[in-house]
Amino acid sequence: PKFEEFDMAALLNETLELLRHRIESEEIELQSLIETPLTMEGDARQLQQVLVNIILNAIQATPPKCRLHISGRSSEEYIDVEIVDEGEGIQAGNFSKIFDPFFSTKPEGEGTGLGLSVSYGIIKRHGGSITLENSRHAGVRVHIRLPRRSELQ
Ligand code: ADP
Ligand code: MG
Repeated sequence: PKFEEFDMAALLNETLELLRHRIESEEIELQSLIETPLTMEGDARQLQQVLVNIILNAIQATPPKCRLHISGRSSEEYIDVEIVDEGEGIQAGNFSKIFDPFFSTKPEGEGTGLGLSVSYGIIKRHGGSITLENSRHAGVRVHIRLPRRSELQ
């Protein structure tokens, strides 16, 4: 992986543009609150793969006419990205397995079970963290925290 300076806000907006068709055809109401710029060092190509994986999971989980929230903000040290859906959430017993390669609760052909495991590896190589929790209302909240300046891991 190559670490270069890039703008996470631009990457988020580009990724949402890539997925816009999916979001619109599922009639999902997208609410995005992305500070700009969100300058950081990393491998933008790999991090885009993470964003696609996580946002696709959220789209698959969100029922029509429900909301999908995406936020991006920065502090001096970190970039924080949150993706919150209004789906059914994750069963308590599955939390320990969601990052395992090939773990999927989706019907055959709809999920490979690789999205979160690959994403976890990419985030770790950036020295960051990724956490999933059931949100208080409904659905899942994914929080990705990345150091703005990172050494190759
Ligand atoms: P896949 O999407 O191919 O099933 P992932 O690695 O992306 O594989 O996710 C693993 C599992 O984690 C999913 O099958 C699902 O059970 C759970 N999961 C991930 N994101 C969500 C979400 N937003 N809402 C509900 N469950 C989720
Ligand atoms: Mg997935």
